[in-house]
Amino acid sequence: MSVNNPHDGSQNAGPRVLVVGGGLAGIAAAAAADSCGYRVTLLESRRELGGRASSFEDPESDQLLDNCQHVLLGCCTNLQDLYKRLNVADRIEYYRRVHFLDAAGRRFDLWGVCGLPAPLHLGPAMLGFSAVTIAERKEVMTAMLAMLRLGKAGREKLEGQAFGEWLTEHRQSDRVIQRFYDPVLISALNEETRRASSKYAIEVFQDVMLMNQHGYVVGLPGCALEELYSHRPCADVRLGTRVSEIMFVGQQATGVMLQSGETLSADAVILATNYHAVQRWIPDHLRATDGRFAHLDKLESVPILGAHLWFDKPVMRLSHAALFEGPLQWLFRKDAEGKILHGVISAAREWADKPREKCAELFQKQIQQLFPNSSARLLRQKIVIEKRATFSPLPGSDAWRPAQAPPAGGIENLFLAGDYTKTNWPATMESAVRSGYLAAEALTCKLPTPVAGKKGKTFIVPDLPTQWPARLLEQRRA
Ligand SMILES: Cc1cc2nc3c(=O)[nH]c(=O)nc-3n(C[C@H](O)[C@H](O)[C@H](O)COP(=O)(O)OP(=O)(O)OC[C@H]3O[C@@H](n4cnc5c(N)ncnc54)[C@H](O)[C@@H]3O)c2cc1C
Repeated sequence: MSVNNPHDGSQNAGPRVLVVGGGLAGIAAAAAADSCGYRVTLLESRRELGGRASSFEDPESDQLLDNCQHVLLGCCTNLQDLYKRLNVADRIEYYRRVHFLDAAGRRFDLWGVCGLPAPLHLGPAMLGFSAVTIAERKEVMTAMLAMLRLGKAGREKLEGQAFGEWLTEHRQSDRVIQRFYDPVLISALNEETRRASSKYAIEVFQDVMLMNQHGYVVGLPGCALEELYSHRPCADVRLGTRVSEIMFVGQQATGVMLQSGETLSADAVILATNYHAVQRWIPDHLRATDGRFAHLDKLESVPILGAHLWFDKPVMRLSHAALFEGPLQWLFRKDAEGKILHGVISAAREWADKPREKCAELFQKQIQQLFPNSSARLLRQKIVIEKRATFSPLPGSDAWRPAQAPPAGGIENLFLAGDYTKTNWPATMESAVRSGYLAAEALTCKLPTPVAGKKGKTFIVPDLPTQWPARLLEQRRA
């Protein structure tokens, strides 16, 4: 295949790889492919990188606002690895104490005891978690023990079961679901607790709380999301460059056509756009031979609402808080004084078409109840609703998620990356980064790598290790 692009800004000299889409999946794929010596070009239609995890300029406040607060956790090993590659790991602030507030603003914390291995580290906090009664705490701990004993293999078998059924089987009461499971799961999975697949719900608890003492630590970017991408993942990054077509000859992608009419040739293409945009790139006859595209329309999209709220006086001192009662499910402090807050509602189906004024009225009322001592008035709000924020991890959805590498008989040099691909993670920044690394790994198996020793190289950073008490408990399966 010919490679001709005189405007290629890459310093590498190997085969030419085009990455379409500069969200976290595309950034991760480009960074990993670049490290193998390929000539990588990253094409992004917007004026900035980051896709759904990025920011926009708010003309009224002249500030960069995130489209929505993005949270990472200690168990997001690959996202942290990407931040290191991009030289921004120090921009993430970590919190070892997770705050919860009830409707009247009473505070309950979960924290891990430093130095104690999992799951013992959370023991003292769980025993004292007075948001639920002592009997309810026992109820939760029994369920946590059952999750530990399942291990990773056990949770895989529950992929097709709704977590609601699992909770009923394990006698978890409605109050415990509202005060413990909902604040953790709805935001982590962007789905109602009972509707989500048990595999993904249990994965959250295993990876975040039960296996390793660092898994639960909450990371919040200390800057606008967009600023995390100022260090480019490869030399040739083209922003404001919309791809309008992928070109094919036989079972091979030969390059792309840009909206401007320019064509770029390639030895391989990594398609890192969101799943809605994927099917239309692929002609019918190729779709028929490549099973990765067969079920994408079965993935259900779920909205997330983010509310930027400006008050005239300080409201919240805490950096963050999970809320037992809605409508807002999480609150984040966005300035030093606590006058600017950001609220989030995940699985926000009912909110997608609500008038913004009505939303603001309800949020202000909720915040007044949460912070009765504050006489702050809401000066301004900016509400962003991403209608297709993520796909829903419903039972059975794994069968619809495509692999990054082509199947036998598929499009030989077209790789997929994106939070929706098969990563074994729910749709999160971590999933997006894993998908990019997996796509680059698959690429090295197909295309000769200019840098020696990179063929079949895995870029995936392993999960945090399961610590010895968790391992012991897992081995004592019921
Ligand atoms: C409101 C909201 C809140 C969230 N909160 C969290 C959170 O707290 N924690 C967490 O881990 N995850 C969160 N997520 C999920 C996370 O943002 C995504 O999982 C992740 O960013 C997806 O990355 P991606 O690269 O797979 O896709 P995207 O970010 O969608 O990237 C695809 C890119 O392709 C580009 N593109 C599309 N078409 C073209 C074209 N024709 N030519 C060139 N480029 C094109 C797009 O502009 C985009 O930049 C949230 C998502 C949303 C929407």
